[in-house]
Amino acid sequence: MDVAAATRPLDRVADFPAIPSGWAYLDTAATAQKPLPVIAAIDRAYSETYATVHRGVYQRSSEMTLAFEAARKRVALFIGAPSPDEIIFVRGATEGINLVAQSWGGSQLKPGDRIMLSMLEHHSNIVPWQLIAERTGAQIDVAPLTEDGRIDLETMASMLTEKHRIVALAHVSNVLGSVLDARRAAELAHRVGARLLLDGCQAVPRMKVDVADLGCDFYVFSGHKLYGPTGIGVLWARGEILEAMPPWQGGGAMIDQVTFARTTFAPPPARFEAGTPHVVGVLGLEAAVDYIEAIGLGAIHVHETALVAATRDALSAINSVRLFGPEESAGIVSFAIEGVHPHDIGTILDESRVAIRAGHHCAQPLMAHLGVEATARASFGVYNGRQDVEALAGGIERVTRIFG
Ligand code: PMP
Repeated sequence: MDVAAATRPLDRVADFPAIPSGWAYLDTAATAQKPLPVIAAIDRAYSETYATVHRGVYQRSSEMTLAFEAARKRVALFIGAPSPDEIIFVRGATEGINLVAQSWGGSQLKPGDRIMLSMLEHHSNIVPWQLIAERTGAQIDVAPLTEDGRIDLETMASMLTEKHRIVALAHVSNVLGSVLDARRAAELAHRVGARLLLDGCQAVPRMKVDVADLGCDFYVFSGHKLYGPTGIGVLWARGEILEAMPPWQGGGAMIDQVTFARTTFAPPPARFEAGTPHVVGVLGLEAAVDYIEAIGLGAIHVHETALVAATRDALSAINSVRLFGPEESAGIVSFAIEGVHPHDIGTILDESRVAIRAGHHCAQPLMAHLGVEATARASFGVYNGRQDVEALAGGIERVTRIFG
């Protein structure tokens, strides 16, 4: 691989008005900055075409409805969903997982059933399952990690039983960047008759995802990590699974007929989209999908992989730095410095205009497993380049000098 070429910032930084020159933004795993086409799509929707969807009889509303449903088709195409009716717009991955846990889990799980998670899950792929386990009497199991921080699928295989009804795993870890062998996970889950949910928050912005090809049953992601707006995300589920799922939230837009005696519900996706949807968020998400597909997820993956390799090289040359996660991780590097709290690393880096994340990354069980309270994390996007890696490495050297 031509590392110098691959770590050039894809010539995209000019598309991001909120990234001033000389600022190394290395917190894309928390949220991505927004490119001009996304900002323009939001601006256009509010300043030119705005109206509600699905209900208006006037032309503007009909046009907005067409645009909204076209965006659903665009998102379906983006993740290889067989039908746009399988795309549910939610607030984000957190809401998507809660929807599955409450609706699917609430109707399917019974005492004695088991739920398989892994040690590296984000709290939003742990807590919703704990809440539904408590309500239904199901139990949670935790798949361990390999030495280098990947979900240990072979050990998970030996733990899975016919009692397992769902396996819910991160496609890419938000802390370690480790990439799941999703096809193998689907095979293992299906072998015991369990469903597979993939938390795709960190995968969708940095690698091509095709849900049909992966063979999973549920897939969730958040728009704001994909260069789109906050407050919008996607739950994909197989059509026949969605058909059998009861409503989660009740309200307008999700019904067929309402009387005080009895209410009947609309088919998916409407059944799961109660209330006025985030119309403008959906249009912004569509613009984000267009934007990253124009760059190409293959190119983004190569680019971020090269930045990770350069970062791991630069940081491993500094003696006191401990790197976490596998070498071939996707777009994310977690590290610690002996004797320095990650918050201090973050604060000192900020003085050098390098923005990283420091903390438990909503993955406290993983922190406990790694034997740390927190890590520092650098994560990359299409606007980053080698100069950001150099700024980070320079900043880390400064941290080590300050702390002697
Ligand atoms: N899962 C993973 C792997 C994540 O990285 C995040 C966000 N940090 C979430 C779930 C939750 O996403 P959101 O807060 O956008 O709902």
